Amino acid sequence: MAKLEDIQRLCLSRAIIFPTAEIYGGLSGCFDYGPIGVLIKRKFLDYWRQFFVKNEDNIFELDGAVILPEKVLIASGHVESFVDPITQCEKCKSIYRADNFIEEKTGRFVEGKSPQELTKIIREEKLVCPNCKGSLSEVRMFNLMFKTFAGPTGEQTAYLRPESAQNIFTGFERVFRAVRGKLPLGIAQHGHAFRNEISARQFVIRSREFNQIEIEMFFDPENDGCERFDEVKDKEIIIMTREAQLKNGEAVKVKVGEAVKKNILPNKWMGYFLAKEFEFFKSLGIKEENMRFRHMLPEETPHYSGGNFDLEIKFDFGWKEVVGNAYRTDHDLKNHSKFSGEDLSVALPDGRKVLPHVVEPSFGLERILYAILLESYVDDKERGWVWLKLPKKIAPYAAGVYPLVNKDKLPDKAREVYKLLKKEFDVFFDDSGSIGKRYARADEIGVPFGITIDYQTLEDDTVTVRDRDTTKQERVKIEELINFIKNRLN
Ligand code: AMP
Repeated sequence: MAKLEDIQRLCLSRAIIFPTAEIYGGLSGCFDYGPIGVLIKRKFLDYWRQFFVKNEDNIFELDGAVILPEKVLIASGHVESFVDPITQCEKCKSIYRADNFIEEKTGRFVEGKSPQELTKIIREEKLVCPNCKGSLSEVRMFNLMFKTFAGPTGEQTAYLRPESAQNIFTGFERVFRAVRGKLPLGIAQHGHAFRNEISARQFVIRSREFNQIEIEMFFDPENDGCERFDEVKDKEIIIMTREAQLKNGEAVKVKVGEAVKKNILPNKWMGYFLAKEFEFFKSLGIKEENMRFRHMLPEETPHYSGGNFDLEIKFDFGWKEVVGNAYRTDHDLKNHSKFSGEDLSVALPDGRKVLPHVVEPSFGLERILYAILLESYVDDKERGWVWLKLPKKIAPYAAGVYPLVNKDKLPDKAREVYKLLKKEFDVFFDDSGSIGKRYARADEIGVPFGITIDYQTLEDDTVTVRDRDTTKQERVKIEELINFIKNRLN
């Protein structure tokens, strides 16, 4: 299996993803996407949208501002509770996230413990600074939000949003009235979220600015209205139950319908999304055995939650959350009603007024792209180069177009083919170096097809199409090329 360093090296050398403001030494946890990264990201987002939004009748989209007034985050609980415990070396001043540090050093599970309890464990275990052996301070809480001030006099405190979800809750009433006025209603959003992580690390895995893609599905708690549940109820997913975690047990494979019936999952909407996610990731090449939904333990779960299930993927460095699925109940709408003074409950056709409940799948784009790159990475000794077996639907370019040699009108003909294809697909033209080198460069960024214009092209208007996965070549008529590529991409 490839490793984080392999993916990072490739991302840097091809400018797929690289540190922000790199020439100034960068800003830890912030990254820019280069041309190839932008294309992969865009294609991924289109595919996500196709899979989770376009197919549904009752999910609508929102694109919210990233700066939020303080009141929103007081109401949501982030000002008070979006905190991590930290401890600082009294000698060299290095800072550590206390719970992770203790877990790493002792293997004890301490998630959710208070600062006092964590300090006590540090003392009991005689933990010291790994840098300089200095003693560690008492544990205190650190708020992960980026604070800012709006207006020339800075009179209004604001924050960069720590999750994209809050725009959806604050905009819920207006959207509800505008689009439909009926439950269930989903609102989806892709955008940036910001967290001042104590130690941003592992390349893009723990960033300070990252892309979230979320759906808030609002439904009547007495009648969930999950009409398409039948389509997924026989689909199998893998769940790591709380019991299994406590007893060092195995994850279990279970039909979604059964999991809801047996109350392993809290409701049909949770089941519906988990089933869809499992399918989605499989369609992107992630192996079933490398995925599981972990039921978060009580100490990891907010008090208002009706159950959180993290989709975890097995990476080169271990299991890690890539999608958080949370049953947020009516917590957010209730608090925003209370703090804003606006009644956010909705009237139902049967005369009841309810505060809708919410199930939220929250995808982290960077971790998903990392998972796909890792899974696609082939260090091919036979070919003699690294290539990416990217799912074709998210490959940056559909094809590269190459004149076999730079003479005898081949470049002109190749330009013609390139222009033709460019109307339909993202394609690139490459006439530098040997044809083998050009194939290698395209393989390295997962381009599915290589189209070579040779002497025969001038005679019969056919080209060779090389398949990235098999390296086999076939001759195709130029007039049939667009359809040929379209069919193969799908
Ligand atoms: P959460 O709201 O913490 O459940 O996060 C939802 C998703 O966002 C996670 O499953 C991750 O994929 C992603 N995510 C959260 N924090 C970070 C981070 N610091 N860097 C990159 N992705 C993150």
